[in-house]
Amino acid sequence: MVELSRDLIEILDFYSGDLKRYTIEKLRELGLRPSKKRGQNFTISIRILEDITSAVSRLGCGNVIEVGSGLGVLTLQLNSVCRKIYSIEIDKRLCRYLEELFRSRDNIEFICGDALEYIDKLDAEGLFATPPYSITGPLLGKLASSRIKWAVMILQRDVVERLAAKPGEENYGSVTVLVRTYFDIEIGRVYKPHLFYPRPEVDSRLVILKRYRDKLCFHEELEKSLKCMFSQRNKLVYKVARECLSIELSEKIYREKRVDEIPPEDFLRILSTIYSCSENIPRSL
Ligand code: SAH
Repeated sequence: MVELSRDLIEILDFYSGDLKRYTIEKLRELGLRPSKKRGQNFTISIRILEDITSAVSRLGCGNVIEVGSGLGVLTLQLNSVCRKIYSIEIDKRLCRYLEELFRSRDNIEFICGDALEYIDKLDAEGLFATPPYSITGPLLGKLASSRIKWAVMILQRDVVERLAAKPGEENYGSVTVLVRTYFDIEIGRVYKPHLFYPRPEVDSRLVILKRYRDKLCFHEELEKSLKCMFSQRNKLVYKVARECLSIELSEKIYREKRVDEIPPEDFLRILSTIYSCSENIPRSL
């Protein structure tokens, strides 16, 4: 059983236990219409808050970043679990309200700005978010190259399933390989659109990333090579390697398999024949 924080219970008591009502009334009070561009789909489900809390507690919440504070519901819930939360919100219309809401909470540091610019800069080991779909790609890229050790996120269902895809599957792609080069992933429950306000167009899903490898010295080259190789995903690996990396691969397997049929470790094995920073590569190599 996950306990709700005192702050959240206060909100729930005031709004008859109804997060949707809190969201609608607060938006009206602030004179705000949710912005599609900013991906504002606020969480109105206690179950989601409990699932995130349970995952975050399991990881041992010290200093963490929250991407997209929204109306502060998740922040106030995790406030009782984490040592310190850097909660970041880009929408200036929400910032004033959040500054006020968090003012008396010592362990919440509120930042009004673009979270993508802060991920590398803050002293945090974890990240939690129900981020807008529009920034999911850049956010995953930033996470991969950061020092963040774990992330608990609710993303678009098909993105989560892409992260978990196996070689040979249709949705296995460069993002799968990039993220899995650094993180073990665990996927959780699926959430229907009515658990958010306003409703997003698609299902969402919980995903937990746990880092097992630090940023590689050839991270940028890895990212570029994956993009190049997966733009020709149906071709044989050795041909694509010749084109994208200017190397000859003589192993039989690379003459038989297509780019989208080889596992993340193989891309790393190939890249590490060109670039060397052997100190932080091993796990399976
Ligand atoms: N976590 C909240 C809000 C989810 S909606 C909840 O679960 O209810 C997503 C929020 O992210 C919105 O408030 C949106 O304004 C904010 N956002 C969008 N892009 C952002 C960015 N680049 N940096 C920080 N916040 C962002």
